[in-house]
Amino acid sequence: MDLPPSAPERKTFLCRALPRLLLLLIFHASLFAIDFAAAGSVQLPDQAPIPQPRGDVLPKAAKERQEQAPLSSAEKACRKELRTLGVEFTDASNVTADGGCSLPHPIEVTKLSKRMRLEPPALLECSTALAAARFFQSEGKALARKHFEADIETVQQASGYVCRPIGDGKDLSQHAFGKALDVSGLVFSDKQEIKVGQYGDGGKPAAFLKALRAAACGPFSTVLGPGTNADHEDHFHFDTKKRRKAYCR
Ligand SMILES: [Zn+2]
Repeated sequence: MDLPPSAPERKTFLCRALPRLLLLLIFHASLFAIDFAAAGSVQLPDQAPIPQPRGDVLPKAAKERQEQAPLSSAEKACRKELRTLGVEFTDASNVTADGGCSLPHPIEVTKLSKRMRLEPPALLECSTALAAARFFQSEGKALARKHFEADIETVQQASGYVCRPIGDGKDLSQHAFGKALDVSGLVFSDKQEIKVGQYGDGGKPAAFLKALRAAACGPFSTVLGPGTNADHEDHFHFDTKKRRKAYCR
């Protein structure tokens, strides 16, 4: 059994232990001071914050995002349908111009089907491109077979998107919204080429062009061409303007 130390023994022990305890205390206090200083240096910023630009100065990327809004579900569905039909196109940058011309999500169409080129490529609004692809793949193809026993290889176009007014200059043309396509000629798989300007010439080309023009009334809401006015003597104007009843002259 251990006995408690006697008074002289306690005094000797304190004399020996006290300096060690003091040394330990000083050592820990210095460690604590180092930790505190280190923690302080992490929390303190080494530089003053840089003022950020405010107000109307937007970074370039943000401006572009503002201008090119995301595709609506209708625009996405339209592109999906074009791909199903074998139409070849690329998305183009949005178009706006003075006077109200606007085409927010244009596509550049190079082919109306896997085997039918559109030359030169046309900048169009998607639903108008879809109307053109459906028309030339169905009515156009059937009429080419009937009149020429051939397929349409190339549709030659004169205008897609163009910022311009209609003839009288009061209203904007549907071309100003990418909703119109001017067709000036066709090339068939037997390499025969016909021009819409041959409309009044009689013979096979004229019969085909008259049938094509009649068939376009409905698939397109506006159909104009030779005989409408002096502006349309050498091409068909097809557009998809919203109307109650198709306007075909
Ligand atoms: Zn036109």
